[in-house]
Amino acid sequence: MRTTTRLLKKNARQRMMRSPSGIVGISRVLSVTAMAWCLVVVSATAIAVTTPTGAQMGQPGTGSNGPDEETRAWIQASLDTWDIICRQYLHIEVEPLPWMIFYDERQAWHLAGEENLLPPHEQVGTSFLFDGRPRALLRVPHDNTDLWLPTGALPIGPGKAPRVFARPYDNGTKSFFVLALPSVFRSLGGGQQNLDALFVGFAAHELAHTRQLVDVMTRIKKLRERHDVPIGIDDNFIQKTYGGNQQYARLFDEERARFLRAALKDSDPATSRRLLLQGLSIADRRRGRYFTGARAVHAELEDIFLVTEGVGEWVRFQIKRRQASPTSPWRQTLNEMMAESDAWSQQQGLVLFLLIDRFVPNWQARFLSPNFPSPFAVLHEGLTTPTRK
Ligand SMILES: [Zn+2]
Repeated sequence: MRTTTRLLKKNARQRMMRSPSGIVGISRVLSVTAMAWCLVVVSATAIAVTTPTGAQMGQPGTGSNGPDEETRAWIQASLDTWDIICRQYLHIEVEPLPWMIFYDERQAWHLAGEENLLPPHEQVGTSFLFDGRPRALLRVPHDNTDLWLPTGALPIGPGKAPRVFARPYDNGTKSFFVLALPSVFRSLGGGQQNLDALFVGFAAHELAHTRQLVDVMTRIKKLRERHDVPIGIDDNFIQKTYGGNQQYARLFDEERARFLRAALKDSDPATSRRLLLQGLSIADRRRGRYFTGARAVHAELEDIFLVTEGVGEWVRFQIKRRQASPTSPWRQTLNEMMAESDAWSQQQGLVLFLLIDRFVPNWQARFLSPNFPSPFAVLHEGLTTPTRK
């Protein structure tokens, strides 16, 4: 936990000192990484199970080939960030630790993985502390073209965007997490140190997904039995389907603006409620008009992706607030995040979960469970109970 605090404080200082040209650089890098950093892809290929042969199984090594100091700090900081997210924000058990895969140009480092699935690997003499217990680290060397994952090889190397994502495996019953190490993403940003803070935030978002993907897979599979749900559907499905429909987009823009204004009115609960009700009313109208007949299933699909992206972005928002200087207003963090993504599910999801956090006590347990509810329904319900803040 101390490592994270140190890391976050360091990045906050650097951000305050950075030049305007640095901000331009960030945007450029973000546009490169945006597609790579979050896409909950629910497809047949994403759930393929890799069966290792005996010959692929590695023998424990001597432990002489451990990570350098920066890599160790980064891995420990990721564990500490996840600990904070579980305990302070999502109010969930910290165990089990998800299978975490960190990679650079020479190797991948695995924590809490299934060793019997791994290609040739070695144990190193370094362990990390999580929930008060040491966790062993395994090293899987690679040639900087393909990264071994439980779902198959991922192309990496020169010209490839640094990756951070969560993905289901073993027929959608488990999930793993992948995060590029600083040497990989800093090479894209021309050595800008503030990329560290950005990637800590992305990691937070994706780590939250490791607790959602199994439920999401179950829901999607069940829906697919009765409805037309495309293979390879992802969290931008609604935007891809309706983004070109000007009337739909206008209605959605109006609704999103109303929710955003409701979120920004934190010191005026009555106005916040009024704007929220207006947003919900427009949402009901939009969904009632377009999600009908064979497309009625789009209502549940929208709910699912608003919940996954909303919780992920809400967690990233909390981590960004920890990184921000004490004088930086929370509205600035929200504006930054709205500008960093053009995905409807992420923008709308973040704003909805800021409102849910304001109006619905103890919402976390409900949204991090199988058959999690619709965020719209929960907000309707929340407006009938007294405000918490
Ligand atoms: Zn996401």
